[in-house]
Amino acid sequence: MFFFIALTNRQEDLGIQWLECSHCQKKERAHIYLTYQVLILFFIPVFKWNKRYLVKMEDCGSLYEAEDASLEKLHLLKSGDRKKYCPYCLAEIDASYQYCPHCGKEVKERM
Ligand SMILES: [Zn+2]
Ligand SMILES: [Zn+2]
Repeated sequence: MFFFIALTNRQEDLGIQWLECSHCQKKERAHIYLTYQVLILFFIPVFKWNKRYLVKMEDCGSLYEAEDASLEKLHLLKSGDRKKYCPYCLAEIDASYQYCPHCGKEVKERM
C-alpha cells in the first residue's frame, strides 16, 4: 500500500491592518501572516496545528506574535532595527525619534 503523507509549514497572507505598535507607541500599517503546520494526505490538508499569527510592522520592521485572530494582544518578538538618517546632519538615529539627538532638528520623514 502506498500512502501519500506530507508535513509542511505554510504561511497565509492575511492582509494589512492598522495596529498599535508598542515599540513606536503609534499606529502603524501592519502585515498579518498566519503560519501553521499542516498534515497533507493525498494532497488534501487534513489537520492544521501550531497556528501562529505574526504581525510585521511596516514602518519600523518590528515583529509581533498575536495571541489569537482578534490581534488584540501582541507580544513583541523582535523590535525593529530599521534606522533612519537625520536630513540635516546625516547622523544615524532611531526610527522612532521625532527630533535628531545630534542637532535637535525635527525629523518627521524617513529618508
Ligand atoms: Zn513600530
Ligand atoms: Zn541631525
